[in-house]
Amino acid sequence: MSGAGKVYLIGAGPGDPGLLTLRGKEILEKADVVVYDRLVSPAILGFCNPKAKMVDVGKMPTHHKVKQSEINKLLVQFAGEVPGGVIARLKGGDPFVFGRGGEEALELVAAGVEFEMVPGITSAISVPAYAGIPVSHRGIATSFHIITGHEKAESGDPLSLDFETLAKCPGTLIFLMGIANMDFIARRLMECGKDPKTPLAFIEKGTTPYQRTVMATLETAGETIARENVTAPAITIMGGVVELGQTLAWKKNLPLAGKRLVVTRAAKQASGITARLTALGAEVIETPMIETRDVIPAKARISSADFKALANFDILAFTSTNGVESFFRQLFAAGCDVRVLAGKKIASVGKITEKKLLEYGIRCDYVPEDHTGEGLGKLLAAKVTAGEIDESRILLLQGNLADDTLLELLPKSTRWVVYETLPVTELPEWKREAVAGADAVVFASTSAVENFVKMAEARPSLSFCIGRMTENAARKHGFETVTSDETTMDSLVKKIAEYYSVAR
Ligand code: SAH
Repeated sequence: MSGAGKVYLIGAGPGDPGLLTLRGKEILEKADVVVYDRLVSPAILGFCNPKAKMVDVGKMPTHHKVKQSEINKLLVQFAGEVPGGVIARLKGGDPFVFGRGGEEALELVAAGVEFEMVPGITSAISVPAYAGIPVSHRGIATSFHIITGHEKAESGDPLSLDFETLAKCPGTLIFLMGIANMDFIARRLMECGKDPKTPLAFIEKGTTPYQRTVMATLETAGETIARENVTAPAITIMGGVVELGQTLAWKKNLPLAGKRLVVTRAAKQASGITARLTALGAEVIETPMIETRDVIPAKARISSADFKALANFDILAFTSTNGVESFFRQLFAAGCDVRVLAGKKIASVGKITEKKLLEYGIRCDYVPEDHTGEGLGKLLAAKVTAGEIDESRILLLQGNLADDTLLELLPKSTRWVVYETLPVTELPEWKREAVAGADAVVFASTSAVENFVKMAEARPSLSFCIGRMTENAARKHGFETVTSDETTMDSLVKKIAEYYSVAR
């Protein structure tokens, strides 16, 4: 299918978003469509291009949401619908390890759709590692074997495994999808001669904030699963290496482990608090309240014809990094490049914007000492007065919320709105689900509360707030509130950790 989209089969890793590969993240950030499975964590979905169409084909353990044959068809269909597009097929762990990635790839080849593999970190090895269990260890295990505990046998047995061979195998045995059948598996292995005292570990939701390790032996496997209520997704690892986990279990029991928190902030501010809460063990769902949008092509206030109009200006003034990024994104999209700026003077409101311009290979000619719009306006006005530049040939490149300071100081200049800042009014479906299942929401302003309740119908009952006004707004909407002592993020993070260490 020439001109069709390309499908990337991407491994999302076992859960911890830090275990997604750089290549995987790069593709998700530019994806037009993301087709994802149940095992992919919300934090990883958060990396996806916010404009991507998100398709959940996740299979629940009891009922299949979308059949494999339908998923295969969907991938081919999206490739046809989005010419030149990026279709990300995101799967838990590694797509080729019991992930049916091979089947999907075969289907793509048969349909003539171009595809690329982006391997992931398989849960088979990484989940034991997060429990301090090396799958091989000198003197203990010279091989390891990854086995599905789910494949039905034609004979009517629950499983088609060769238990005779497995029981003789001296290496580490790692079962995926095996919890439901583990009683049977353990019994068959013992019948075939495997030592009933073989140490064994079940690791549930490994690498996520909900990770739990339960130790047993082959003979106690079934009863341990029932007693401890071990549930999928979980891995079973068998062999001498399991005992190393007693000494090597390194993952600390962090104060916020097992808690899912929703952070509502303006997009770019969120990462700081997210990083801090994540470091304390929480799973964080960021729901930005505002988003920035390029003005073209939706509004066509700048079109490629307008880029030709750049010839009418000698000085381009930028007042934000958003403005720089948005301007260049649109310039490139219109088929132009930086040569249209040859000979022009470039002005920046401050150091951060100046640095951003340097990323595009552009040095600034004018940056005010005080890094404000007023400073920039006065600096340029002085150059106008000195006859160095012509005021009518100044172009201001700003966002729709920029104030008029520059225009007032330079009334003959022209302003192009290159991006818009808009409130986010809707949550994507995957986020709605993640928010509904969260333990609490974090609010830093009354507007965040107001905006959030409009977007999220199903939501947790608890909120952590900064400031009394925010607290009141949250109460008004029926939240229980816990408010930080001081109006800082540090104080709030401390309060959240304290709250859960007492509640535990
Ligand atoms: N392709 C995946 C495996 C898919 S089969 C990979 O490479 O990891 C699904 C099984 O993987 C689950 O039943 C469970 O046994 C295992 N699994 C996946 N993620 C897991 C996790 N975070 N913790 C424990 N087991 C996990």
